[in-house]
This record gives sequence, C-alpha cells and structure tokens, in this order.
Amino acid sequence: MIGLISATAAGAAAHDRLAAAWPDRVRSYDDVPVGDAVRRAFVECEQLVCFLATGAVVRLIAPLLGDKATDPGVVCVDEGGRFAVSLVGGHGGGANELAREVGELLGVEPVVTTATDAVDIPGLDTLGFPVEGDVSGVSRALLDGEAVALRADVEWPLPPLKVGTEGTYTIRLTDRLVEPGDGEVVLRPPTLVVGVGASKGAPVDEVLTLITDTLRDAGLSPASLAELATVDAKADEPGIVEAAAHLGVPLVTHPADALAAIDVPNPSDAPLAAVGTPSVAEAAALLGGGELLVPKRKSTASPAMATCAVVRRPGRGRLAVVGLGPGARDLLTPRAKGELRRASVLVGLDQYVDQIRDLLRPGTRILESGLGAEEERARTAVAEARRGQAVALIGSGDAGVYAMASPALAEASDDIDVVGVPGVTAALAAAAILGAPLGHDHVSISLSDLHTPWEVIERRVRAAAEADIVVTFYNPRSRGRDWQLPKALAILAEHREPTTPVGVVRQASRPDESSRLTTLGSLDPATVDMMTVVTVGNTATRDIAGRMVTPRGYRWQTGREGAE
Ligand code: SAH
Repeated sequence: MIGLISATAAGAAAHDRLAAAWPDRVRSYDDVPVGDAVRRAFVECEQLVCFLATGAVVRLIAPLLGDKATDPGVVCVDEGGRFAVSLVGGHGGGANELAREVGELLGVEPVVTTATDAVDIPGLDTLGFPVEGDVSGVSRALLDGEAVALRADVEWPLPPLKVGTEGTYTIRLTDRLVEPGDGEVVLRPPTLVVGVGASKGAPVDEVLTLITDTLRDAGLSPASLAELATVDAKADEPGIVEAAAHLGVPLVTHPADALAAIDVPNPSDAPLAAVGTPSVAEAAALLGGGELLVPKRKSTASPAMATCAVVRRPGRGRLAVVGLGPGARDLLTPRAKGELRRASVLVGLDQYVDQIRDLLRPGTRILESGLGAEEERARTAVAEARRGQAVALIGSGDAGVYAMASPALAEASDDIDVVGVPGVTAALAAAAILGAPLGHDHVSISLSDLHTPWEVIERRVRAAAEADIVVTFYNPRSRGRDWQLPKALAILAEHREPTTPVGVVRQASRPDESSRLTTLGSLDPATVDMMTVVTVGNTATRDIAGRMVTPRGYRWQTGREGAE
C-alpha cells in the first residue's frame, strides 16, 4: 500500500490525482495532522508519497528510520508540482521506481540520487535475486570502477555488470550455503526445486522441517529455492500448500502419469498405490530436468508422513525478442526499454542498434551486423541465450513482423526462456498518420520476392483483391525490384475503382516522415521506396477531409450495433 500525505490545496490536488489513478494501491491520510499522518503511514505502508517539502519529511521520518531493507520507500513531491524526489528506500523500498511512476503520472520530473541508478549500473539488490552481504561496498566498487570479480557456480542470465575474474571485491552467484565475506555479495539464483510427497493430513511443520533440514544438510541455501513440486493429487494437501506459502515459493503440480515416466533412483510401491506413480518427490523435482542433489529423504517423524528430494536446475538463458517501434523514441514501449536494459547481450541490425544505443547499460555486449545477415543474427542470439546469457534480439516495428522473431524461434529449443515484446509495426504507424484506413479487415503483404516466389505473393494479392480487404504493402519497391508494386496494384485495380484511396507513408515517425493520400488510378510508383508502406483501401474506403477512412461496416454505421 502507498500512503499519500498532503498539507496544502496544491498538494491535495496532486494527491487526488494519484488516488484516482491507483485506487487499489493507495491509502489517503488526509484526516489527521501531517505529522501524525507521516508517522502512521510509515508503519502501515510499504511506500509513502508526501506532497511536502523534503526538509519537513526528513524531520518527521528521521526518528523512525531503521533498516534500508525494511523501511518504506519515501517519495516527496514539491508543492509546485515540478519534482518527485526519491528520498529514502531508493532500491529496497522501491522509491526510485515509485518516483519515476509518480513522475510519469503527474508529469513531474523524477529525481533519483542513488549512486547506481544515477550512473546506470543496475543496483545489486534490484536484479530480482535475493542478495546477501556487502551490497553497498560492492556497489560502490562497481561505481568507482574498481576490480570486482564474478564467481558464478551456475550460469544465470544477468544484466551487464562491470566484472572480471579477479578483484578485491566479489560477487558470488551460488545456491550453496556460504556466508559472504568482507567485500563480497552473494546473489541467490532460483536454481533449486524441492519435490515433496506427503500422506494425507501430513502436518505443515513436518513438511517444513523436512525441507529446511534437507537443504541445510546438503549445504544449500533456501534463498535459492525456486519452487516446490508435487503430484496433482496433492495440489490441495494443506501441509504442502502451507509449506510453499511459508517458504514464499510457488507450488507446482504434475499429473501422475508424467511423474511415472521419469526415471528415478528410489521408486516405491506406496505412492504407486496411493496416487498412481512410483515416485512423487524425486520425479516431481526431476521433471523439469536438472541434477538430483538429494535423493528421496523421509521425515524423521514417526510415522513419517512426508518425503522430499532436491534438484538443481540448469541455468536457463533468456532471449527477449524486442520490437523497437517505427522509429520515434516515444513509440518505443516502456517494456521494450526495460528489456534492452535487462540484456547483457544485444543482437541486431546495425541501423537499429544505432536507434537505441543510448538506452543500453554500460557493459552491454553489442553484436551488430549488416543487412542480409538475418540467419546469422538469429543463430547468434539463440546461441548466446543457450550459453546462459540475457539476450535482446531487436527489430524495428514489431520484431515478429517480417523480422527476426521467426528465424530465431525456429532455431531455439525449449532450454531457453523466450520473452516477446510487441512493437508498433509500420502498418499501424502509417495508418495513424493516414487517418483510419484499417477500420475493417486488413492484411499486410510483403512484396519482396527475395525469399518468397512471386507466384505466391501474387496469389495472396489476388485473394485480398477478391475478398475486398484493405492491403498494406511492406517492402514495396527497391532499386532492383521495381515491377512488383505496379503489378500488385493492377491486380487490386481489377476489383476496385481507380478512385480507391491509397496512402503512401515514408519514414513513419522518423525525422523525415512524409505521407501522401492518392488513388489507385493516380499513384506514381516512383514515389515509393523501401522506407515506405503503401496502404490500399477497400471499396468502401473514402477520402474524408484529406484523411483515409475505411468504414467499420454497414450495420454499425446505421446504429444498430454499437459495440466498439
Ligand atoms: N518489422 C518491421 C517490418 C520490417 S520489413 C515492422 O514491423 O514494421 C521492412 C519494411 O517495413 C520496409 O521496407 C517498409 O516497407 C516498412 N517500414 C518499416 N519501418 C517503416 C517506417 N518507419 N515507415 C514506413 N515504412 C516502414
């Protein structure tokens, strides 16, 4: 919950805007004096937004400050509504992120002074892993450019960190039970899966004790626990469900026949009779692959009602396939931006890399190549992800539209995680410039016959022509390919009037953007090049006040059907 505190009318207005935008996230403290409000919110909320001077807030919270791991994150918004200052709890309390969110919502400038964020090194406590040890010391060393060594027991996709193999400071990436020494942080990757079996009514204490003792005896850290796994029939077994909740990890269940198919060292008859698989704990832990670190172990209670087994999953690389949008920075989605900064390896066409180079974190390894190297880029991206890296493969517009997503995913097997980030594709960017040409059914057709035989392209153009579908041509014309566009337009003209509107948009959303609304009868193909898309209307499309408009359909237009 975010506590909101304001004192003046200006503050209250901004306060109300936040409250209206985030009804489920905020609680207003406007019924008590400001001092009491801050003190109450500080203990009751995870975060505070104070529409007060920083000085006033500092004085009020100073006596309450405890530990940066547990204190709430506090953001101050000034009376003039110019700045959202992340005051305390920048990382742990999420104040930096909150300042940015508040800034975006209220149109005020976020002010973040935390060292790592300020110089763009990811905070060690924001990597999504539990972290132990000297976080501030190692962060400062990274910041000062001192030698920091990375010692990783497991390959896990990290964002770029300026690290080497030697150094006074160390970052350890391990699931082993080790105490961080001086100048050392330990990052806990989510590598461990504990398979659990339990008889009906097994007490939660018994299950929990078994799991924590087993991990400890094996020298493994519970902070690296990724999930508990069991058989479907035990999905509601209270002892297991509560143990997972207590450990703060998800409980994943699998069908008995899937477990029965797993080869395990210690099968037995009891679970076979009860739930239909000779192994629950070992099989459930092993189902996703990995190394069995602890074979089936029974609890020490008498009679023993629970079993468990521990598996270490192999590190999984991460491939983000990221659409950059048509060109303009504000048409690049925040999610795309996040993935670019999350990646330690970036793969893409050189001109697209240029488009976003300033967003990358220092230390990002950039693998750029020229036009035509698609296959190689796809292979490189997948190979890097297989090595356990966090990879972003970029494409303009949407990376799945005539772009890199399909060749990359055709290469990839299920040993990597894949994340897709949609982007504004050229057809949509152009449509927004032209008006509303895509108001009814529409297709995109690429006129490039480099990889597709012309007969196939022509058959599709003809089908669209006959079906009266709005068509957007990608790759419409290049120096060496100049007859395809006139031919495609001629096919459409067999079914559409010469007066049918045609929109030509070049360099949509880029500095030298241009667009023209013309007709099927008078389009000059010479005005079209590879930086252009051409959208041809259907028989109902009209030029209305210079805008290209395709009606949504007759029934809707006569008002009988009002749905959007
Ligand atoms: N993945 C891209 C398309 C790649 S195919 C996307 O989703 O937009 C390349 C073709 O896309 C170009 O020949 C051109 O026809 C079109 N295109 C890409 N960006 C464009 C832009 N900003 N303006 C106009 N056309 C564009």
